[in-house]
Amino acid sequence: MKTSSNILLIYTGGTIGMIKDFETGALKAFNFDELLQNIPELKLLEHNIDTISFTKPIDSSNMKPDFWLQMADIIEEKYEDYDGFVVLHGSDTMSYSASALSFMFENLSKPVIFTGSQLPIGDLRTDAKENLITSIQIAGLQKNGKPVITEVGLYFEYKLYRGNRTTKINAEHFQAFASMNYAALVESGVHLAVNYSALWKPNRRRKMKLHRGLEDRIALVKIFPGINRSLLEHIFAKEDLRGIILETYGSGNAPTEEWFVELVKETISRGVLVVNVTQCIGGSVAMGQYETSTQLKKAGVISGKDITTEAAVAKVMYLLAKDLSPKVFKTIFETSLRGEIT
Ligand code: ASP
Repeated sequence: MKTSSNILLIYTGGTIGMIKDFETGALKAFNFDELLQNIPELKLLEHNIDTISFTKPIDSSNMKPDFWLQMADIIEEKYEDYDGFVVLHGSDTMSYSASALSFMFENLSKPVIFTGSQLPIGDLRTDAKENLITSIQIAGLQKNGKPVITEVGLYFEYKLYRGNRTTKINAEHFQAFASMNYAALVESGVHLAVNYSALWKPNRRRKMKLHRGLEDRIALVKIFPGINRSLLEHIFAKEDLRGIILETYGSGNAPTEEWFVELVKETISRGVLVVNVTQCIGGSVAMGQYETSTQLKKAGVISGKDITTEAAVAKVMYLLAKDLSPKVFKTIFETSLRGEIT
């Protein structure tokens, strides 16, 4: 049985492949071939690695659905030719991209591992080499001739997480990501310790399907003490708005002031879908637990349960493009599609 895998490395941009502009001191993207020259260790790996790069690598702050489609199209086109995919991506929006791709690919039976770094690969103290090399090794893991990881993951600083469970929590530390509501899938120490019971179980008889539709006429609104009524009314009243992700307090709580509750009710009655996610990085929305969330529940607000904001944005975009009835949308949103909620 073969132990080496064929891995496609997809470079989209991000710090990992940047260099310092000596005049301005700012980091900017550089040529992908130069990136590979900085990691001669890749040649020591047992896997066959091919590479492909965005024609114009981006800082991931410029990420948008068009780029998710670019990544997904590459993976779909090369799906049969490779055992696994590693996506090099800026850390700033990596959790959004990993979430988006997790929904776009139904019945994935191969690994798609996102990784990046806090320091450029050419930096002496870089975290890029470990992140990249271990990501490739994880993407190449096989058991009984089949890939071990069969989902979209995010690898950073010794841990592989389910991609749609992650959040960037630190702009300074090498440990930049957390998955508060779901255990790590793999931990890298002396050995790669796979947490088999946490892995996504694919239905290998079903064919992988790429869903390309994404609806971007949505809003993400974070509630805060003193939120301005007329500004909020203005946003909610936008006539082509299709969905709102409301980031509420704690277990899904929001002000009980009449104007706010009425605004939510009226918006939902216009056919706009409103999803409740928590501002906390861990824990879950449980509407009805407090008076301050009972009103939202009664108004027909959808519970995001323990979904991350990043995954909620991606899931709303993905499901809205399917033109479901509000009732079906709510049922599907509150159900785990790719392991994004517990
Ligand atoms: N601004 C960079 C990006 O997200 C940061 C990084 O790569 O870590 O593209």
